[in-house]
Amino acid sequence: MPIRVLPTELVNQIAAGEVVERPASVVKELVENSIDAGARRILVEIEGGGADLVRVTDDGSGIPAAELPLAVAPHATSKVATSEDLSAIHTFGFRGEALASIASVSRFRMVSCPRGSDAGAEIEVEAGALKGPRPAPARPGTVIEVRTLFCNVPARRKFLKSDAAETARVTESVESIALAHPHVSFELRSNGRKLLDLAPTDEPAKRTLDVLGKELEPELLEFEERYPELGGLVVRGFAGRPAIARPTARAIRIHLNGRPIADRTVLHAVREAYRGLVDPARTPTVALILELDPHEVDVNVHPQKSEVRFRAQSAIHSAVRKSIERVLRAANLVPHFTPDAFRGVPTDSAAPRAPLFGSGMASAGFGPAQGSSWSGSSSHGSSSHGSSSHGSTRAGLPHDFSALAALASSAIGAPSVEPSGGPSVEDQALCAEFPYIQLLNGFLVTEDADGIVIVDQHALHERAMFALFMERLERGNLESQRLLVPIILERSAREVEILADIEPLLARLGIAARPFGPRSIAVESVPTLLHSRNADAGAFVGDLLERAVEHGSLLSLESALHEIVDMMSCKAAVKAGDALSAAEIRDLLRMRETVERSTSCPHGRPTSIRIARSELERRFGRS
Ligand code: ADP
Ligand code: MG
Repeated sequence: MPIRVLPTELVNQIAAGEVVERPASVVKELVENSIDAGARRILVEIEGGGADLVRVTDDGSGIPAAELPLAVAPHATSKVATSEDLSAIHTFGFRGEALASIASVSRFRMVSCPRGSDAGAEIEVEAGALKGPRPAPARPGTVIEVRTLFCNVPARRKFLKSDAAETARVTESVESIALAHPHVSFELRSNGRKLLDLAPTDEPAKRTLDVLGKELEPELLEFEERYPELGGLVVRGFAGRPAIARPTARAIRIHLNGRPIADRTVLHAVREAYRGLVDPARTPTVALILELDPHEVDVNVHPQKSEVRFRAQSAIHSAVRKSIERVLRAANLVPHFTPDAFRGVPTDSAAPRAPLFGSGMASAGFGPAQGSSWSGSSSHGSSSHGSSSHGSTRAGLPHDFSALAALASSAIGAPSVEPSGGPSVEDQALCAEFPYIQLLNGFLVTEDADGIVIVDQHALHERAMFALFMERLERGNLESQRLLVPIILERSAREVEILADIEPLLARLGIAARPFGPRSIAVESVPTLLHSRNADAGAFVGDLLERAVEHGSLLSLESALHEIVDMMSCKAAVKAGDALSAAEIRDLLRMRETVERSTSCPHGRPTSIRIARSELERRFGRS
């Protein structure tokens, strides 16, 4: 075939492939146009999930009759005129291709009447043929109808999902724009049924709650932080408590200057903020609204404009992460035991945990001898590991009777313990401070000001190891243990190659490794803490290399460290079902108060569940 310039019709259809993926993308483009036109009321009507009809009616500026044909011409826009304009975009649109694309793959009709005029006009486009403009009755504003989407692209039409699925996408699309435009009212109807009705409001928080669902209000933590030094960055929104994390990535909604975006840097920062609070397979519920000087960001990197490029990428990443971290830290994150909150929380400690642990840990002793913040004070010597009856917990019976006594007495408000004999004065003091019973081979039941707390000792230990590693890392490089015989790992060529790139990271962790041929690596030193817990350091280094390759370049040393320390604490923590002494258990319980984020293990599973006093009273019919 000779080279030739493609006919406009075909060019539009090709462009449509990028911009118009499904009815939801049509809705997005049309609603964004309405907002650009200054609309205060937007009505979206769909039929057949939007595949049969999308109609958007607004009360915006309208388009003069003479300009209507231009609106559907490619690269025709009223929003930018010079390349200077491109460097600071204030509107949703600027590419001038949405209407042209949509009209090229549907039966398209547009009726408009400019504000202040009483003469409306309409045009129609069918299979590329433009009809009009001709006079038509219209109210100020614009109505756009898109019928039989992809009528001339059967391959695309076939790929559409069920009506219900497409309707869900459309709803999401409208919600997502509505979130950032609280002063505009939105209504969505599907086959005549009203799906959304969002009243205008001056309070952004109110709109967010309208969209996310008012019933979630108690679960949402509001935040707002300003960073004037970063292009006037404002980071605000709502961060959901870990309990309302969702299995789908769409639970995170991000807006930048009123535009919904799916930017990887920002998404990563949000996930980082929840690291350790939410299971990696779930997504925290977050509405994040960013405002930033438009000069500081390029939105023209993606046809759907969902990806953007920040000038100060890593500063934005850390501002977002910190803002969310702060509000999470300020909140009390122990989930409450209510039938609803309890759903989805694993109750069986043994089953889901097994694969999380590295091999070779079974023999690793855990106790005061390990040194570090774990060392119980010497006064606990009498009840050290395995030497007392506290150790083995086969039956579901309480084993620490003095603690039980303390629990009982403090529960009725008497602070002092009067055991019939036995425990030392110090032990009694400790029992009063940390009353507990150990049940079901690894659950500790204790109390705090708000009610009864059930702790998964294993998950809490994982969290404590994490804190320990982080604390050591803050002071410098991790202490390193030189191996008498290096561990030789067979790895891919790519992993051998990336070794040099992650050298500084390895040094921080106390790991020395070097290429040992084109496809193998010699690990010569490993972190002492891992070594002393008999963890499989070779497997750890292997995992690390795999991640480094997967991430291409790790975003920052800091965020990579978090991820890696997760892996290490996993490998180093005590196994489920390992027996702990009374002193160790008290150390562990004390940890709850001193360790940051002790309410969940580094993988986001809860370490403890609280049954509120009020819940107990209600269940026992006392209130
Ligand atoms: P862009 O939004 O990138 O400019 P579009 O193809 O989406 O490109 O729209 C082309 C032009 O049509 C816009 O620049 C605008 O002038 C006009 N337009 C589209 N929709 C509306 C509307 N709802 N109200 C007023 N003008 C509109
Ligand atoms: Mg547009």
